[in-house]
Amino acid sequence: MNIIEKINKLKREKNAIILTHCYQNIEIDEVSDFVGDSLYLSREAAKTNADIIIFAGVYFMAQSAKLLSPEKKVLLPNMKSGCLMSDMIDVENLRKFKSQYPGIPVVCYINSTAEVKAESDICCTSSNAVSIVKSLNEQKVLFVPDTYLGKWVEKNLKNVEVITYNGYCPTHLKIRPEDINNARKKYPNALVLAHPECHVETAKLADFVGSTKEIMEYAKKSDSKTFLIATEKGVTDRLNRDSKNENWGKEFYGVNDNTICPNMKQNSLEDIYNVLLNEINEITISENIRNKAKECIDKMLLSGSKK
Ligand code: SF4
Repeated sequence: MNIIEKINKLKREKNAIILTHCYQNIEIDEVSDFVGDSLYLSREAAKTNADIIIFAGVYFMAQSAKLLSPEKKVLLPNMKSGCLMSDMIDVENLRKFKSQYPGIPVVCYINSTAEVKAESDICCTSSNAVSIVKSLNEQKVLFVPDTYLGKWVEKNLKNVEVITYNGYCPTHLKIRPEDINNARKKYPNALVLAHPECHVETAKLADFVGSTKEIMEYAKKSDSKTFLIATEKGVTDRLNRDSKNENWGKEFYGVNDNTICPNMKQNSLEDIYNVLLNEINEITISENIRNKAKECIDKMLLSGSKK
């Protein structure tokens, strides 16, 4: 049996599912039940009757899955897979930040630990960040940890001051405005699709700015044939694969060769097999943190469902 067959057999025996973020190594899709962005994956997992969830992603994502499925065993293939952005803020830093702006609500990007969510007022994703901040009806909000997503939200809203924490994604910041300009020279007919974690000067040059899910949907629906993708390479790889398999006749190129999240790529098929076999790397969250962090996510979901 090859590694894929071995994982699939174990999954059946243990009633396990595998969630795979679209920044992962593409071969992991072969054993995955769901592929997508982090909140979608956690919500889909919560609807299943699986006993075990393997989250092929980074630590905060596995925590989010545990928050939404507390009764299930959630395992992370490789404990070194932390998100560099989410690690830029902890509870102590957040409390200091809040103390500088008393009374101003904290909007917390989903790319944060459960502990940071528990200290925040409402969560958001890169898809709904603008609508969540708008729904608060406040003149000022604090936004953690991603300063660039926060600035993007401010740019899209009139009359709201978004005070951002100074976190960022090192992978998305490697995409510089000159990379977009150079790539456009090479592919003059291409549309540039960028993630809002990019620097604002980079995002400004894009034809479309959206979450990974929105980028993938936009690319599929668009009449254009060539695209430059300004986000993690896993998205470009999956778009090219789907275009080939489903005959879209479209081509996707990264805007540079550095858009690789090293932590995401820590997870391998061997790691997945190992954690599933031995049921190690389990995510645990104390009840107190879980209740508060879940409330932060629930407020976001409730806000969304009212629209
Ligand atoms: S790409 Fe950036 S934000 Fe996403 S997991 Fe990697 S470090 Fe975190």
